[in-house]
Amino acid sequence: MRAFISLDLEGLPHIVSREHLFVKGALYAEARKIATEVVRVVAEELHELGVDEVVIADSHGPMVNILIDETPDYVRLVRGFPRPLSMVAGAKGSDFAIFLGYHAKAGTGGATFDHTYSSATVDRLEINGVEVSETLLNSYLLGEWNVPVAMVAGDKALIETDVKTHLPWVVGVPLKESLGRYSAVSPGMEGIKKLLREGTIEAFRRVERGEVKSLETEKPVEVKLRFLNSAYAEVAGLLPFVERLDGKTVRFEAKNVEEAYKTVEVLIFASAGVSSIVNR
Ligand SMILES: [Zn+2]
Repeated sequence: MRAFISLDLEGLPHIVSREHLFVKGALYAEARKIATEVVRVVAEELHELGVDEVVIADSHGPMVNILIDETPDYVRLVRGFPRPLSMVAGAKGSDFAIFLGYHAKAGTGGATFDHTYSSATVDRLEINGVEVSETLLNSYLLGEWNVPVAMVAGDKALIETDVKTHLPWVVGVPLKESLGRYSAVSPGMEGIKKLLREGTIEAFRRVERGEVKSLETEKPVEVKLRFLNSAYAEVAGLLPFVERLDGKTVRFEAKNVEEAYKTVEVLIFASAGVSSIVNR
């Protein structure tokens, strides 16, 4: 059996400052330690439950957050950015998936670091009329590959919104309760490890009982993307299949979620390009 783990940072316990989130940040070393510990506990528990291979996609920022010194032999690590299919690279062929350190979508109140894929460029993303978090977008793509999501551990605001509404079979493990965008309350690391072990055991039970489902959506897939800046929508609209709906919003259709996902990736890269040109 093969499990897939995608790891983000913003929904991890005790990670509350911008300084945690980038390589040169003053608190980045602490964030890496927390990330490594969280992922290790879950991988270890999965292995004890009988999973022979755990593929871990390191999925925040430069995507080289996890410290690799003590990675066990049953783990395969996906590292580096940019990469095709970003947060779910390496997931195809897995029996089930787990998201760790995930956060609420852009615009969610009472959430820490709420954003959707790119806090610098994306204001809102819709897949077939559903406003998605990274959790939902990734779940739709995994669903297309028949990989069900069994557990999401992260910001309580995410668990209470998208997980409860769209993924009721998923074990939701709240790792932090937001007090604001840059503040949160969490149990100490020993308490966090206990929550993660219990969550993993319950998720694995649900997988074994066939209770977890692949999240599906209709094809073709309609995507609406609202940017934070009209220049990003202007550049996206240069593509012949992208329609500009208003100053900041574009719309396009894709034959499936994978194509939609890749196109969104390109549009975000293009926005980052525009941003670096105009802010030079
Ligand atoms: Zn992130």
